[in-house]
This record gives sequence, structure tokens and C-alpha cells, in this order.
Amino acid sequence: MSKQRLHRNVVIIGSGPAGLTAAIYSARANLKPLLVDAPADAEKHTVPGGQLMITTDVENYPGFAEGIQGPDLMVEFRKQAERFGTEFLETWIDKVELQERPFTLHTSDHEIKAETLIIASGASAKWLGIPGEAKVPAGLGGHGVSACATCDGPLPAFRNKPLVVVGGGDTAMEEATFLTRYASRVFVVHRRNKLRASKIMQDKAFRNQKLEFIWDTAVEEILGTPADGVTGVRLSNLKTGQQQIFPCSGVFIAIGHKPNTELFKGQIETDDVGYIKTSGHSTATNIPGVFASGDVQDSVYRQAVTAAGTGCMAALDAERFLDHLPVMMPSGEEITMEGEHITPDHEVIITPDGHMIPNKIGSATPRD
Ligand SMILES: Cc1cc2nc3c(=O)[nH]c(=O)nc-3n(C[C@H](O)[C@H](O)[C@H](O)COP(=O)(O)OP(=O)(O)OC[C@H]3O[C@@H](n4cnc5c(N)ncnc54)[C@H](O)[C@@H]3O)c2cc1C
Repeated sequence: MSKQRLHRNVVIIGSGPAGLTAAIYSARANLKPLLVDAPADAEKHTVPGGQLMITTDVENYPGFAEGIQGPDLMVEFRKQAERFGTEFLETWIDKVELQERPFTLHTSDHEIKAETLIIASGASAKWLGIPGEAKVPAGLGGHGVSACATCDGPLPAFRNKPLVVVGGGDTAMEEATFLTRYASRVFVVHRRNKLRASKIMQDKAFRNQKLEFIWDTAVEEILGTPADGVTGVRLSNLKTGQQQIFPCSGVFIAIGHKPNTELFKGQIETDDVGYIKTSGHSTATNIPGVFASGDVQDSVYRQAVTAAGTGCMAALDAERFLDHLPVMMPSGEEITMEGEHITPDHEVIITPDGHMIPNKIGSATPRD
């Protein structure tokens, strides 16, 4: 069966806070965006609506004085994007061709041409894959198991309670140190007998009186019920094989994040970890017409409000990019927003005041 062909001015990948905010802005600008997001898949940890779909209370998103449930917040984002005419397609983008514009995106059933592309495919927290870790009802995710201390640490369920942090790198030290502000005690469980974290983070963690380390140990299972939340973890000493039930009220998995950028590998500039690089104070990538917003380009803040902020920026950047594309006249000549004429053979640009500029790389001298 042949694939359905679509051609759109703005295509957005991802329906988390970044993608949906980009959709709201570009739909209101009459750009008729198409937003593509992966379907729900328990194994791949994907849910339309992004990472906030796997959490409960969101207390730090501005505008909700009493807090809001993550999934409810994403329903509101989506309704707002729908209201202005965003088109939604629930499927995986499984191949992209970004060498020339319009860009081509492939799904199992579609070939989509995009004049501009906003990448908002987010990042995924790395998980251990142990029993009890998955989202409720399969596990206790969202009910005492989290991968984000900044997001969930201040919640009442964790205050003045013993908490476990899993990991030994910078992320784990940051999360554990942060959690000591709220918890009665924080236990860092690490597979080795020394940390991978930077010296400065280690020093800070070792000086913290509320932090304790459990070395050479793995968390094998998270225990509890959705009603009671987390009640403990089953630990296994990797040297002696000895097992123990360790009581705690919350588990924070802090073994790192992975940006969802496999799809773009080799085509777009990323940092060493795979986060897409954007230029200066914008969402522009190294490919003109491709913009990146949200966690996929942010290894530092990783919050819903920052993702939404850069989603807005990406929509405005895409809108400006489209506005500045030359318009083709019946004569074959093209006219830009600035009133410059480009000759049909693309050899010369004629400025509004009549100057003629060669339209070739390396020949910048006016030739009138
Ligand atoms: C447990 C947890 C709790 C959190 N709590 C809070 C909180 O309280 N407050 C807060 O501010 N932040 C919180 N965060 C962080 C917040 O969720 C993220 O910063 C935010 O969701 C990032 O938004 P995003 O739009 O960049 O990406 P995401 O929300 O990650 O969305 C990206 C979307 O793109 C889709 N996608 C990826 N690849 C493809 C593809 N190839 N084809 C189609 N679709 C694709 C994904 O399936 C996903 O739906 C929490 C995170 C977690 C994990």
C-alpha cells in the first residue's frame, strides 16, 4: 500500500509542553501546524502528552495555585492547541531527511513534507527496569517513584520521610542533595564503592549530614501499594549477595537522561550526549528551517515551564523563517519580505534601491 502524502508549513514532533506550546502559537498565527506524537507504548515509556503524563502532582507550573495533576495539565495544553486548529497525528516518525527543504518525514503510513520542522521530542529518564518502577497500575511510578527530584521532592508525600536515591553520578548527587531539604534522611544506593560524580559534587554530598551512602548495592525491587505509596526497597549487596528490605517512603531514580534524538543522528548537530545544539538566544539548529525546543535541547533545566517557553520561541522562529522566504512571481523572479528581487536564474539579488548583488557564495561585492 502506498503511503499517504502530506505537505505542511509547520510540522512539530512531540506533544509534551514544548510541542503543544509551539502548536498553540503557530496555529494562532494561521500556520496550520501538524503535530505528530508517538502512541502510548508501555515498553517504550511513551504516552501522548509527554513526560508529565507519568507524574501526579505538578505544583510548580505557574497559573495553578493549588497545583494540577500532570495528565490534567496536558489535556488543557492539548485542548488549547486544538482550539486554534492544530492537526494531530498519533504515530511514530521513524525516519527524517533533513538534507533539503521541504524536509521529508516518514511514518509507517505517511510521507510528510515540512517547510519548517520543530523538534520537541523530549528526553527520557533512564530507568532500572525493576519490579515496582513502572507507572501505576503496573508499578508505583507517580506514587512514590520518580525520576525528577526538582519536580516531586517538595511534595507532601516525601516531606520528613526517608528517601532512596539510586545512582552515583552528578545527577544523583544533585538530586540527593536537593532532597535533603525536605526528607528526614536520604540514602544514596550505588552499585560501586566510589562515585562517578565530579569532585566538587562529591565533596558537597559527603559534607551533607542528612546524606548516607549504601555502597556496592543494587535496588532489586520497589515495594508498596498504590494506596500506601512506597514502603521500602529490596536491596542486594553485589559483593556478598546478601539481601535486605530497606524501609523508605520514596525512590528517586537518578541514573541520567537520554535525549530522544536517535532519529536525527548524523543529520543535525548535537552535543556529546545527543542534546540538539541551538544557536544563541534562539531555537535555530544548524539546519535552516529546523528548530528544537524543550528537553531535547536542554540538559540543564528540564522543566515543563522552560519546555513551554522554548516551544513558544520555536513557533515564533519558524513563523519568522517562513515570512522571510522569497515568494515566487509568475515571471519566475522571487521577491523577499525585504522587497529584494532574485532573478529567475538565482544569479543576482536586486535591492529595493536598485543595487545588484551577486547571489553566490564568496562574491559579496555589489556589481552596479
Ligand atoms: C516523573 C516526572 C515528573 C515530572 N514532574 C515535573 C513537575 O512537577 N514540574 C515540571 O516543571 N516538570 C516536571 N517534569 C519534567 C517535565 O515533564 C519535562 O521537562 C517536560 O515534559 C519536557 O517537555 P518536552 O515537551 O520537551 O518533552 P516531553 O514531555 O518528553 O514530550 C516529548 C514527546 O515526544 C514524543 N516523541 C519522541 N520521539 C518521537 C518520535 N520519533 N515520533 C513521534 N513522537 C515522538 C514522546 O513520545 C513524547 O510524547 C517531570 C518529569 C518526570 C519524568
